[in-house]
Amino acid sequence: MTLTIPFSNSYGKLPPRFFTRQAATPVAAPELIAFNDALAARFGIARGPDDVLARIFSGNEAPDGADPLAQVYAGHQFGGFSPQLGDGRALLLGEVEAPDGTRFDIQLKGAGRTPYSRGGDGRAWLGPVLREYVVSEAMAALGVPTTRALAAVATGEPVFRETALPGAVLTRVASSHIRVGTFQFFAARRDFEALKALFDYTCARHYPDARTPDELLTAVIDAQASLVAHWLSLGFIHGVMNTDNTALSGETIDYGPCAFIDDYHPQTVFSSIDRHGRYAYDNQADVIVWNMAQLATCLVPLCNDQDEAVERFTAAVHAMPGKIEAQWLARFGAKVGLSNANEDDRALISDLLDLMARNGADFTNTFRALAHGTARDQFTDRPAYDAWHSRWQARIESVPDAQSRMMQTNPAFIPRNHRVEEMIQAAVAGDFAPFHRLLQVLGAPYTDQPGAADLTRQPAPGERVQQTFCGT
Ligand code: AMP
Ligand code: MG
Repeated sequence: MTLTIPFSNSYGKLPPRFFTRQAATPVAAPELIAFNDALAARFGIARGPDDVLARIFSGNEAPDGADPLAQVYAGHQFGGFSPQLGDGRALLLGEVEAPDGTRFDIQLKGAGRTPYSRGGDGRAWLGPVLREYVVSEAMAALGVPTTRALAAVATGEPVFRETALPGAVLTRVASSHIRVGTFQFFAARRDFEALKALFDYTCARHYPDARTPDELLTAVIDAQASLVAHWLSLGFIHGVMNTDNTALSGETIDYGPCAFIDDYHPQTVFSSIDRHGRYAYDNQADVIVWNMAQLATCLVPLCNDQDEAVERFTAAVHAMPGKIEAQWLARFGAKVGLSNANEDDRALISDLLDLMARNGADFTNTFRALAHGTARDQFTDRPAYDAWHSRWQARIESVPDAQSRMMQTNPAFIPRNHRVEEMIQAAVAGDFAPFHRLLQVLGAPYTDQPGAADLTRQPAPGERVQQTFCGT
């Protein structure tokens, strides 16, 4: 028996220079780790037996209607331009449509080498696969636009990094895998015919109201401004905001070295390769503007009057910081209970964040405690907190539903770095219970779950994770 996936593929109809058709490289002994039934049901995929799921989502068996291909793209990595990247360890199996007509990519990550693998082995090990599974599903439950995880399969083969590690394949679902870097690939080659085809395809798939490059640019800027403000409001650090990891859809993509802040400090960096803090927590707003400037540059050749287009696009990019700030104010306003925070409230929120930074207060627990009325416990400098608290009380006294607003915007649970690490270590030793428990608890992040209080604890000094790594 096999599994029926109602594929409806479109990317493969783009010109051949957009991708390379490529089958997955079979693995030795695929074994299902997890399958996301709720997500599968949205696309009309009914669960099959575990061994069938394992064969399909390892790439050992291509389901009917699949059209496996590796997409090509380019990208600025840490500011330096790489003209040729692409799916080096991933394959697009095909696309499915949700009942509302929205199209989703189903992609295998870790499915073997492709023409874009460069020196890499095309594989992934269990750690990054489970990390992406847990963190992307947690982001979805938190309400953040994101790629999702449909399945994880152990390959039964070792992957060699610094040591031999167990191999795995992640099945990722995304609104698409079109990146700023996809536009850069064709723009850098001055392949304007392909660029126009990509533009038309992107508008049709993501922004059907957009007719012009200006309209597409504005739509993407708005989506990304909202996304990054959302990240900031949850203490999320993406960690590798290269232009190839910035999706046109406005979804969070690429959960390599990402991490959530424990004790709040605005310059926090976890990624081992981010030596100069380019992608530090509070640089993310600046970086996304820079990435949108790269997209704007790619769109200029599609305009008839290019000098005027440069002026208009420059204005659109310059308007982005204001958009992010407005989104930031709305999100952080809600976190302190306000329904329509105004410019005066900005100081109230910033003063709280400054106090948190000085006191090493835990980002998630402090905001959750504000909702519960117990935030004072999070601070060492109690008089300073008390002074802030009086200002805050005076401001929210007359605001209706402040507490429920805070409960809905300040999660009790985030995928804490040390818990993710601990879960990976258990899985490598053959124990998947912590993985399943994290998934379950993080599925309801805004609900207090007394049985999972241990997952709200910030790391003890010995548990602290200092560095995170790309999945390679
Ligand atoms: P990332 O840092 O995950 O955004 O990946 C950057 C580029 O490196 C992409 O083109 C990936 O496909 C490629 N890459 C990462 N890991 C591997 C690997 N193990 N084998 C082949 N290519 C890889
Ligand atoms: Mg990437």
